[in-house]
Amino acid sequence: MFEEIYSPVQKIVLAPFNNLFVKRDDLIDPYISGNKWRKLKYILAKAKAENKTHLVTFGGAYSNHLVATAAAAARSGLKATAFVRGETVKNEMLLLCSLFGMELIFTDRESYRDKHQLFESHFANNAEAYFVDEGGASAEATLGCAEIIGELTETYDHIFCAAGTGTTAAGLLKGIQQQQLAAKLHVVPVLKGGGFIADEIARYTTTDKQLALHLDYHFGGYAKTTPELIHFIKMFTAQTGLLLDPVYTAKMFYAISDLEKKGQLHRDERILAIHTGGLMGLFGMKDKF
Ligand SMILES: *Cc1c(COP(=O)(O)O)cnc(C)c1O
Repeated sequence: MFEEIYSPVQKIVLAPFNNLFVKRDDLIDPYISGNKWRKLKYILAKAKAENKTHLVTFGGAYSNHLVATAAAAARSGLKATAFVRGETVKNEMLLLCSLFGMELIFTDRESYRDKHQLFESHFANNAEAYFVDEGGASAEATLGCAEIIGELTETYDHIFCAAGTGTTAAGLLKGIQQQQLAAKLHVVPVLKGGGFIADEIARYTTTDKQLALHLDYHFGGYAKTTPELIHFIKMFTAQTGLLLDPVYTAKMFYAISDLEKKGQLHRDERILAIHTGGLMGLFGMKDKF
């Protein structure tokens, strides 16, 4: 199912920018959203090469990664199980996971912390089971994300992405280095205390010379929002016709807009934002709008 794909780059009209472009990875697939497709591509290839037929993974109740893994497993003829953090709940995302045939095991927060232990306790005697870390974080995932850069046919001064685990950012920086591009990679962690992202990126890349981390756009932390961010999403969507999710891409575009206001970006510079998808994240926050 991971045949070659190519997501388009589109120029968007957002004042005051004159050269703002978006890599539309959100268009790759409605369920295997954006960077999750990129991350799963080589994870599935490795699982298949090792004759594993059962993906076992981890996530919160609104995890894009769980839906993506469920859909990718179903389309590849693989079984899937997810350990879902927290008490039993129902929501739109987990409904999709179930429809794709994923087994859901709700797991209290204490046990959830040790994922390898959870895997061992349920799948130690199952030679078909393949451990996929939360969010798909892995060396394989960085390979797929580096391909985003390989698809670019033009050059940019700045490339932006949102970060949760930092694996996507690591892959992008690797891609920039491999292609010897001059672009600077700007990473916007969506969690509070996102400094650990620098270590994550360093695990997979050789230099951080072209890297800028922007730690002040978490809006209170993972999956937290403020009225200001919600206002920004409404304004952005009405102006550009592109949807953003409040967890990741809204924080990235807010950062782009704010850095221009602070004089750290210039409106004429060529800026590429990676739209990593995740629009279903809107559902988890519908009460905020
Ligand atoms: C998962 C996700 C990210 C974060 O990717 P990492 O590789 O974990 O940093 C960014 N954007 C969207 C929309 C996501 O679903």
